[in-house]
Amino acid sequence: MTETANTPAETKAAPKAKTANPCQCSMFANADTGERLECNKTTTRQFAPGHDARLKGFLIRLGAQGIEVTRAEGGMSITGDAAKAAEGYGFAHMVASGIERAHAKARAKAERAAARAAAKEKGTDSSDTVKAKVGRATYEGRIEGDEFVYEVKGAERRTTKHELV
Ligand SMILES: [Zn+2]
Repeated sequence: MTETANTPAETKAAPKAKTANPCQCSMFANADTGERLECNKTTTRQFAPGHDARLKGFLIRLGAQGIEVTRAEGGMSITGDAAKAAEGYGFAHMVASGIERAHAKARAKAERAAARAAAKEKGTDSSDTVKAKVGRATYEGRIEGDEFVYEVKGAERRTTKHELV
């Protein structure tokens, strides 16, 4: 046995110099529109500085909208949901929880809108301005219960004898 043997294992384990690769943030694209992060950086790591955060934001935005992501890798492209696209990166769980938070926010917003619509239907919504006729004059005001609340010269008045116009 000689000591100069250059085994395949050694070649693999000890690269002489770090090679710069393209930053991975631009490997991901919106599967619907093809939109991707513009990036021409190279790095010896997976991402140029700050570009992991940039990709994270991009994936959360797409995931929140339910848009799938195409990941290009080694001549192949894989399409799947945004949380899945982040798998294998250290920030994968942050993408998943960011998307979940966005969905929860959207659900809460939809629920508030539904509640507002239901309140309006019942005439109990007090935030919307309505116009009503009181006597012969028409005023702008709001409905509270079965009362029309309006202002005359800065003074609040209430009546049930009104007619919405
Ligand atoms: Zn990048």
